[in-house]
Amino acid sequence: MTDVTDDTATDDRKETAAQRVERIKREKAPWSIMDDIRRYAREGFASIPVEDLGVRFRAWGLYTQGDGRGTRGEEQPFFMMRVRTPNGLLTSAMVRTIADLADRYARGAIDITNRQNFQLHWLRIEDIPTVWDALSSVGWTSQGACGDNTRTVTGCPLAGVDHEELIDASPIALAVDRFLNGNADYANLPRKFKITITGCAHWCTYPEINDVGATAVRRADGVVGFHVRVGGGLSTRPHLAVKLPAFVLAEQLPEVVNAIVGIFRDSDELRQNRAKARMKFLFINHGWTADSFLAEIERRVGYSLAPAVEEHPPEGRYRDHLGVQPQKQPGLHYAAFSVLSGRIDPERLRAVARLADTYGDGSLRLTATQNVVVPNIPAERLTAFEAEAAVVGALRSSPFQRGTVSCTGSEFCKLAIVETKQFSIRLAEALEARLPGFSESIKLHVTGCPNACGQHWIADVGLQGVLLNQGGEQVEGFDVFVGGGLGAHSATAHRVGFRASADALPDALERLFSVYDAERDGDESFREW
Ligand code: SF4
Repeated sequence: MTDVTDDTATDDRKETAAQRVERIKREKAPWSIMDDIRRYAREGFASIPVEDLGVRFRAWGLYTQGDGRGTRGEEQPFFMMRVRTPNGLLTSAMVRTIADLADRYARGAIDITNRQNFQLHWLRIEDIPTVWDALSSVGWTSQGACGDNTRTVTGCPLAGVDHEELIDASPIALAVDRFLNGNADYANLPRKFKITITGCAHWCTYPEINDVGATAVRRADGVVGFHVRVGGGLSTRPHLAVKLPAFVLAEQLPEVVNAIVGIFRDSDELRQNRAKARMKFLFINHGWTADSFLAEIERRVGYSLAPAVEEHPPEGRYRDHLGVQPQKQPGLHYAAFSVLSGRIDPERLRAVARLADTYGDGSLRLTATQNVVVPNIPAERLTAFEAEAAVVGALRSSPFQRGTVSCTGSEFCKLAIVETKQFSIRLAEALEARLPGFSESIKLHVTGCPNACGQHWIADVGLQGVLLNQGGEQVEGFDVFVGGGLGAHSATAHRVGFRASADALPDALERLFSVYDAERDGDESFREW
């Protein structure tokens, strides 16, 4: 969730929102309040100072949710907790733990995010220490999951098993995540900072829209290293990351990433306005270029990097690895389940964990498209696995199930204009029922406000929430965007000038997809159509 704030100082408010947040972070490091949060849990919600509640809690993955009140007449605000899951790597014990926590403390409400994390909702301050202790017992934390620090380092969920990957980059992603999270040197960044490190041939973690996107590439001499992109981000000002003219060896990458985070941390010009504090604004507003950025990295690490080499960005629009596929290890397969809009109930999670224990090696992974993978299934057990997996969910899903992603929306997000989760689930199911023959891959992304956490800018069809006036009554609706893409076909989607109420969108999109299906030339994408 984005926390764009008003940065205009007024007479009766002596400091801007950005100055206030910077002051609060300086006065007391957000990561230092874990014991305070445990005390607030004992003393009650009223004991929480506003500076902690509004700023420092985020460093522990905690936001107050929605309007801060419950739906059962409670007066006390509830919390969303994001659980940091580097590279999306999980064990069945972790999955069972979060399912049990969701049942016991979160009204069964659990979402998979598009950065390979879980989010719990409806937590009371009184329950947070117990939730932390349960997470800790399986090696898990919410530290650094939100706030002005390096967020979870993402990586290909099939790291180490995908037969097409150039390198298993997950050890680097995990090492970088471990080094940065909780590190006092990187505790106060101007804003959130998103890193992905991947050896995936399909760039499934969207390096183009991260602050740092490291993608593996093979040099002519056979050495696999990384290209690094910097300054990607969406929100109200989409900016695809700038590729640095360098080839970074695997052993150099952690140091290079740390240098980049250091550049961001030291860019005080970004600390003036929360809405313009992401690293992309160094390129948009402050004159940085790929060459000047690389020169500063080389100055910080103390050596020159080799020049960039030829690369071929991925062609495909799907980057989700869904379905059952053979692994690079002979005789083993992985199975990726589609979880529509990332909303999953605890019972289904437990069932997936059971499958991982029974048929795999007990490991699971989360994808950046809000889905779950069970790896390491022996070929001879695949038939039995698939029979049992059918009760869990979609291993082979329609383009609408598969391509629909949504942000948190008004159910839990304070900044939302409209509800997104239930809407996107209803929309995908309606399109699936109305267009059973539609087989083209599509990305249908739904976002509840202009902050674009649902990534509508990179979708074939993106929907951004708006309020519409219908006969004097305010109803929820969406602006339609079309033609976004990444990889070999990078482009941000454009607003087509059509908006409709949530109720009218199934009809409108049925027409759009029908005409597209009938008129497109070959495998023409929405961007080319
Ligand atoms: Fe992000 Fe969605 Fe919340 Fe807007 S409504 S801030 S896009 S999660």
